[in-house]
Amino acid sequence: MNSDFLSKIQKFQPKFEEKLAKYTTWQIGGPAEVLVETKSSSELEEIILTCRQFGQQYTVLGGGSNVLIADSGLRGLVIINRSTKIEVLDSQNFKQMIIIPPVYGQAAQEYYTFSDLDYEENGDPVLVKFDSGVNLPYSIGWLHKNNITGLQWFAGIPGTIGGALFNNIHGGTHHFSDYFYSATVLEDGQKKEVDFIYFEFGYDQSIIRHKRNIIILDVTLQLQRGNVQKAKEVYREWNNRKKIQPKNTCGCLFKNIPPEVQKKYNFPTPSTGYIIDKVLGWKGKTLGNLQISNWHAAFMENLGGGRASDALELISQIKQEVKKKLDIDLELEISLLGFDQKDLVKIL
Ligand SMILES: Cc1cc2nc3c(=O)[nH]c(=O)nc-3n(C[C@H](O)[C@H](O)[C@H](O)COP(=O)(O)OP(=O)(O)OC[C@H]3O[C@@H](n4cnc5c(N)ncnc54)[C@H](O)[C@@H]3O)c2cc1C
Repeated sequence: MNSDFLSKIQKFQPKFEEKLAKYTTWQIGGPAEVLVETKSSSELEEIILTCRQFGQQYTVLGGGSNVLIADSGLRGLVIINRSTKIEVLDSQNFKQMIIIPPVYGQAAQEYYTFSDLDYEENGDPVLVKFDSGVNLPYSIGWLHKNNITGLQWFAGIPGTIGGALFNNIHGGTHHFSDYFYSATVLEDGQKKEVDFIYFEFGYDQSIIRHKRNIIILDVTLQLQRGNVQKAKEVYREWNNRKKIQPKNTCGCLFKNIPPEVQKKYNFPTPSTGYIIDKVLGWKGKTLGNLQISNWHAAFMENLGGGRASDALELISQIKQEVKKKLDIDLELEISLLGFDQKDLVKIL
């Protein structure tokens, strides 16, 4: 790596050949050539612009809760995006929110339910700006302390605000984009304020999933001065129900199947966990130290020391078997980072 570049990033205390497994919830992944942690969006912006100035390859990671990183690790600079900056804005310039309908319905009904906790909120709107590196569970607690509600549906979901927007996470019947107001991004190094349309949100979907030249710096959400007591109860209860999910995973591997496919096969749920369990009979199937979860077959657990190559092989086997038995192309929810094209062809 260029020595001028390295001296420029000295103040971020770079670590060399740092194992990335400890920066992911799945605890899988080889070393980063160089790793830094940023503590604010302005630091994130600064380091990305420095990378661009030196033509240096970079990858931004939030909580590492939705990625599979190759055993060979990641070349270039890995930026761990951390921040605690949350700001309530004075602006009264509110928008009509756009709600994306849920397509997952009763996906996890067999294991935990949430529809009984759902309710309409009708508090006064309030705009809150988050650095993209703010931890999501921390944000929810911070908002409640400040009498603001709206994110309680996302209880028990690890990661950062940036990661939540990247994938447009879902909690119960709510998408993260249901609260989206605006964001600041760096697109090809250009800083811009962007709106809902820019992101092309859908279920587990945003434009950033396909355009790696866009980095989210901060996000403004339109939330509510709602009933904090009720929101806290929902948060606690939801959190409890999600506690049974295995933690040494990356969440669900695949997106749920579309409603028309669910209808075609008359499946009781769109969850891919149902297909892997009931059609393939692969709950508990193990490869190396990776196991399709005995709790919920949409999850794959690392039993300890799991390798990315085994995770990828098991993912590939699931995809091929589902294609063979049902002619369904399962779509990955997680991001694959650092793999060679020859590894990827078997699962894309
Ligand atoms: C136990 C468990 C439960 C989960 N439950 C749910 C659930 O209920 N619903 C749900 O939708 N998801 C769930 N997930 C998945 C995951 O938590 C979310 O997708 C989360 O929002 C990912 O955020 P992160 O910061 O960890 O992203 P990371 O895993 O760090 O990154 C994911 C992708 O986003 C990119 N990225 C991260 N930050 C930025 C940024 N600032 N700008 C541009 N790109 C960025 C990364 O490069 C990477 O490609 C669960 C995961 C686990 C482990």
